[in-house]
Amino acid sequence: MAKTPRLKDDCFALPEGTHWTPVDEALGHLKSQMHCVVGPETVPVWQAIGRVLAADATARRANPPYANAAVDGYGFAFAALSGAEAEALPLVDGRSAAGVPFEGVVPLGQAIRILTGASLPEGVDTVIMQEDVQTVDGILHFEHGIKRGANCRAKGEDIDAGAVALVAGTRLGPQEVGLLVALGVAEVLVYTRLRVGVVSTGDELRQPGEAANAHQIYDANRPMLLALLKDWGFEAVDLGVAKDDRAAVAAVLDQAAERCDALLTSGGASAGDEDHMSAVLGAEGRLDLWRIAIKPGRPLALAMWQGMPVFGLPGNPVAAFTTALIFARPALGALQGQGWRQPQPNLLPAAFGKRKKTGRREYLRARRKGDGSVEVFASEGSGRISGLAWAEGFVELPDEAMEIKAGDPVRFIPFSEYR
Ligand code: AMP
Ligand code: MG
Repeated sequence: MAKTPRLKDDCFALPEGTHWTPVDEALGHLKSQMHCVVGPETVPVWQAIGRVLAADATARRANPPYANAAVDGYGFAFAALSGAEAEALPLVDGRSAAGVPFEGVVPLGQAIRILTGASLPEGVDTVIMQEDVQTVDGILHFEHGIKRGANCRAKGEDIDAGAVALVAGTRLGPQEVGLLVALGVAEVLVYTRLRVGVVSTGDELRQPGEAANAHQIYDANRPMLLALLKDWGFEAVDLGVAKDDRAAVAAVLDQAAERCDALLTSGGASAGDEDHMSAVLGAEGRLDLWRIAIKPGRPLALAMWQGMPVFGLPGNPVAAFTTALIFARPALGALQGQGWRQPQPNLLPAAFGKRKKTGRREYLRARRKGDGSVEVFASEGSGRISGLAWAEGFVELPDEAMEIKAGDPVRFIPFSEYR
């Protein structure tokens, strides 16, 4: 099989003279540089949840595979109805049930007992619901008014055999797997799962259950980012914590390059004394520090390390979460063969007022209220990790200056849109 092409070493380099990069430009650049880096494999359909189709999936058989009844009732040929106020059709002996079809022919002018999902016997093109009839001494009675073809499902009315059911790049969820199985598909060609590593950096970090001194904090980013990656269908690789030390950072990057297709790091990505991640990536890898005009978010460190793309996220958990969704999610999707997915906002009335300055895009932690409006978290402070748990999405405010009054439409993007 042909080897999947790797990313270019300078794929993260921004055009000359760029200082504060607008979000759309940063996304546009990422979009132009990220492409699929994984190859295809065949898996049983029931193991394919969360995987991305590497080829169009076509229907092995039609859905429905045969014409059948949509209700429990009685079937007959519409042509035989008299059109009078009341109809009376003798019932044939026998019935048609799901999985146990009636093998004979229903003569014109007669009717047959038929159950939901049963194939329509020859001579039947219309089914009346059992609630709308009476049967007396083997005769079916009902009032006129039924339409030709009522309560019948035509063969292939949902999808024809051989038709494309799902296109390459589709991520398979429960509904997609249900569809494929219905269409007779037993195995699918999907991309191998993108292996995405997560590493935290910082001498102050402690692990859950460990004692922590007043000057130490718990490593919130690693479990959060690993869980995001699993939700998104990637193979999440836990690479632990690297100390604030160049050798430790270089060692974990080497380890990641061996085990992963891409890496998310958090912390140490700015240009401070203890920002060893950016220092190592800059000295030994190919680093491009993006200063993106976004709040919250510090510089985003994007680098190639031994051919592996590294997304150096900020240490602050709110900024790490936000930049993971906005930048890493679509980029990883492209690496995984999903193509570039742009989350779609809903326009909802604001339940808040705010004035914002020009020059950067803002992502406010937000959630919907019962009345359909959207409220934002009380504090915009990016240290407020409780706001992440409180929120169910972002309100995205444009780069330009803006004054929002209660009731004005704002762009709400649920976190579930980043999938
Ligand atoms: P840094 O980017 O390393 O300067 O970190 C910025 C802020 O985020 C500091 O307050 C760090 O203590 C905090 N921080 C860094 N990594 C994590 C982490 N894994 N979990 C929680 N907070 C972190
Ligand atoms: Mg740090």
